[in-house]
Amino acid sequence: SSSAYDVIIIGAGAAGLMCAATAGYRGRRVLVLDHANKPGKKILMSGGGRCNFTNLNSTPANFLSDNPHYCISALKRYTPQDFLELVDRHGVEYEEKAAGQLFCRNSAKDVLNVLLTECEWAGAEIRLKTQIQKVREVNDGYQVVTGSGVLSCESLVVACGGLSIPTMGATGFGYELARKFGLNVLPTRAGLVPFTLQPELKQQLAPLSGVSCPVDVHCHNQHFREPMLMTHRGLSGPAMLQVSSYWRPGDEVHINLLPGQPIQEDLLALRKQKPQSTLAQYLNQHLPKRFAQAFNELQGWQGPLQGCSNQDIEQIADTLGNWTVKPAGTEGYRTAEVTLGGVDTRQLSSKTMAVLDRPNLFFIGEVVDVTGHLGGHNFQWAWASGVAAGNEA
Ligand code: FAD
Repeated sequence: SSSAYDVIIIGAGAAGLMCAATAGYRGRRVLVLDHANKPGKKILMSGGGRCNFTNLNSTPANFLSDNPHYCISALKRYTPQDFLELVDRHGVEYEEKAAGQLFCRNSAKDVLNVLLTECEWAGAEIRLKTQIQKVREVNDGYQVVTGSGVLSCESLVVACGGLSIPTMGATGFGYELARKFGLNVLPTRAGLVPFTLQPELKQQLAPLSGVSCPVDVHCHNQHFREPMLMTHRGLSGPAMLQVSSYWRPGDEVHINLLPGQPIQEDLLALRKQKPQSTLAQYLNQHLPKRFAQAFNELQGWQGPLQGCSNQDIEQIADTLGNWTVKPAGTEGYRTAEVTLGGVDTRQLSSKTMAVLDRPNLFFIGEVVDVTGHLGGHNFQWAWASGVAAGNEA
């Protein structure tokens, strides 16, 4: 019938569009369904509107998963270079910001246009504003019941993303479908998300809103050397977003405010050479002024260094090199860049992304339990898993 497709993909986001083009080029009749009024909304808002579309240094170590080896195969078969070659072919201008992080020079629209053009060339159809009411298994595939009729397909690909940014159309639909088909869904939580603070610390740090400084942060043996940003709500910036993916409620976060600086030796030498100098002066040299002042006040450090014993100096060095903060929580899905957890990959083929005992049902992108670090890794997973499924569906 006219409503029969070879492949139906639920979700016109990064993974779904990549999958659609790949399957379309194989000659498959492909339909992408999305409830949103536009495709790829998250691509457009990503990377501050410039889309950090891949990371040249991406390795499996940049991903969190309960089953860490799962992502290796797909990432190896579709690499950052492969995606770069694609955007190059479309003449997209890009630039490397931090090491390996590739961003559009002009607008994230460029990356979305690459995907939409590829879908068009591959003959993949995209249908928006489509509510999906039900998915049924039938003899030779699946039926998707929508607000505007029943569609059938041989292969069904679930690419409807995670729970982050509900205002952009995120739903738990992919998890519901997975459960419906008997799959295990690992608990989800917000990742790459700013921390909120206990009221007292929040108030003390409030005047620092907007101040950023490079730190070395660690939590659960993971450490990141990146900038930290104070906001009026708490702690943010790349360092905090990265570590938030490893953080669990109740955990402490350890922050080295002067990474690479031999703090204790510095202070001992300073006390000897300039006994009248103060900690405030030392901090002023190494930290943004506003932060130095507020941190000094927070710690109640006063007087010249000559009044500090060796033990005092050891303690001060520890406070600066290992400032320990116990976040109250995170800002949650409202501002999280990603959702951790999701469809348990132990039931999926790492080669095709298909459910092991249902070869025509695929899960790709953020809905599965593979989550990247900040810096373009999440899109790289979306591309790689999309291609893997698109070559098989
Ligand atoms: P999505 O891109 O979220 O697509 C899912 C699609 O499914 C959406 O179009 C949605 O409308 C649709 N959908 C959902 N539910 C339903 C339903 N019930 N019925 C029909 N359709 C449905 N990653 C990077 O690598 N680099 C970055 O620079 C970057 N910046 C980001 C900035 C922000 C603010 C955010 C929120 C995320 C950012 N990410 C970034 C993460 C990245 O956007 C995601 O990892 C990626 O989009 C996941 O791709 P996906 O295709 O799995 O899901």
